[in-house]
Amino acid sequence: EETVSKNFIEQEIDKDLAEGVYSEVCTRFPPEPNGYLHIGHAKSILLNSGLAKKYNGTFHLRFDDTNPMKEDMEFVESIKEDVAWLGADWKEHLYFASDYFDVMYECAVKLIKKGKAFVCDLTADEIREYRGTLKEPGKNSPYRDRSVEENLQLFEEMKEGKYKDGEKVLRAKIDMSSPNINMRDPVIYRVAHMTHHNTGDKWCIYPMYDFAHPIEDAVEKITHSICTLEFEDHRPLYDWVVKECEFDPAPRQIEFAKLYLTNVVTGKRYIKKLVMDGIVDGWDDPRLVSIAALRRRGFTPESLKMFIELCGVSKSQSSVDYAMLEYCIREDLKLKKSRMMAVLDPIKLVIDNYPEGEVEYLDVDNNMENPELGKRQIPFCRELYIEREDFMIEPPKKYFRLFPGNEVRLMNAYFVKCESFETDADGNVTVVHATYDPETKCGTGFTGRKVKGTIHWVAAPYAKQAEVRLYENLVDEEKGVYNKEDGSLNLNPNSLTILKECYVEDSFKDAKGCDSFQFVRNGYFCIDSKDSTSENLVFNRIVSLKSSFKL
Ligand code: ATP
Ligand code: MG
Ligand code: MG
Repeated sequence: EETVSKNFIEQEIDKDLAEGVYSEVCTRFPPEPNGYLHIGHAKSILLNSGLAKKYNGTFHLRFDDTNPMKEDMEFVESIKEDVAWLGADWKEHLYFASDYFDVMYECAVKLIKKGKAFVCDLTADEIREYRGTLKEPGKNSPYRDRSVEENLQLFEEMKEGKYKDGEKVLRAKIDMSSPNINMRDPVIYRVAHMTHHNTGDKWCIYPMYDFAHPIEDAVEKITHSICTLEFEDHRPLYDWVVKECEFDPAPRQIEFAKLYLTNVVTGKRYIKKLVMDGIVDGWDDPRLVSIAALRRRGFTPESLKMFIELCGVSKSQSSVDYAMLEYCIREDLKLKKSRMMAVLDPIKLVIDNYPEGEVEYLDVDNNMENPELGKRQIPFCRELYIEREDFMIEPPKKYFRLFPGNEVRLMNAYFVKCESFETDADGNVTVVHATYDPETKCGTGFTGRKVKGTIHWVAAPYAKQAEVRLYENLVDEEKGVYNKEDGSLNLNPNSLTILKECYVEDSFKDAKGCDSFQFVRNGYFCIDSKDSTSENLVFNRIVSLKSSFKL
């Protein structure tokens, strides 16, 4: 029997279900539509949708669009695409928090009637001053004791547009001496004469996040409202709003630690600057860790799921090594993808004793470790391309690849022996000459002699030229992500290498955007969904084959 230990959130849910606090589980992912989602959001999406699935419950996708200042609806579609791509299914449960403005207004009126909220004329600066500090209790606002009638009238007038932005706010009446500053009569509604993308000019007052969020959860009958740690000391206010607005059953907030990756830029501000400065090719540049970028780079939903599961859920803040993410994509693609031959830095190999103009087709396993992927046929002829680094004029010790007089195996084909080479005026090798031994054909069981090196190749007249993009971290790992002096990014000047003259097997001609492959010895690659065409193939390296990462 498999024993899988439950994370702390699952343990809490089990307890709630056992005690009958809730009879079923309902979770949500509540993004603000103000930017693209990144790997951290993927954690929240997979965690919330995963819990709903595990407990046979419901998962909601809710756009938290209550702040008319910050939203940009262009992000709604990209967020939906990303959430769906990760496999989180919200079914018909797609919501917009701005649809609850009426409910929120009613809740505010209810609080006023209960004597639990008041209209305050202090300025933002004064409110901050009166709020006190961690060491010092706050002071009551001089407007705190307004009568219910006066508060109702003033709030109504706020709604009707009688006051300018900032002139009046509605505050919860809680406790100005609470050790938790969030409980010191927080502002719950403010005046903002702004057009909202959904409700137009219907409202000129808007709820604050700490008031809106619990109501959104309660209206949707969310049971477990899972959020990140920075909201931990907002939880008393969350509970206060739910209780005083008399929602039953009450949703329950549970916090977990944000996901951080080492040597990766996640700050929106920084990414925006990289895009603006033209250092990266948009929000989906394959060196970024937005979900769109990870998808374009060739990561799969399965690999991200595996990664998030390995990270686990906890309350303690820590950074995860990017190498673990790479480990997950390798694991995911290992048996699923064909292993093709592609030459990234070509040099010609001429097999002098192979008849000119002749071609033979060799049977090749698509993936030796997974026979289900079948076989393909690849052409072999007199002129091939091999990697420049697989030939040396004067090899160092333990170099087992091609050099004058040495014999190697051409992967899936024959043994070839290097006979000579040609150079240009500068001494650069232009062509390597070899002879092949027809007896040594791969798959015939030839055992006459052994060679120590095997190199890959493609048949020159049949190969397709392609562009290959190799990536390194965007930031200089040695120096850390941010410059200690001025806060700027420590960029790695080698984060992108573009190889324009690569040769791939002809069988790639039908490949589509995001299709991925192993290029033997070179790594895993995918077709770039933005720039690749059937005429001009562009591949992104997802990850190399080697890794120092150990689980
Ligand atoms: P902001 O948009 O204000 O920068 P944000 O990045 O948290 O904040 P939201 O749109 O509010 O963006 O996030 C939606 C959800 O994703 C929230 O529940 C948030 O807690 C969660 N989330 C954001 N970043 C991470 C992270 N690094 N790890 C895990 N969850 C995260
Ligand atoms: Mg936020
Ligand atoms: Mg956000």
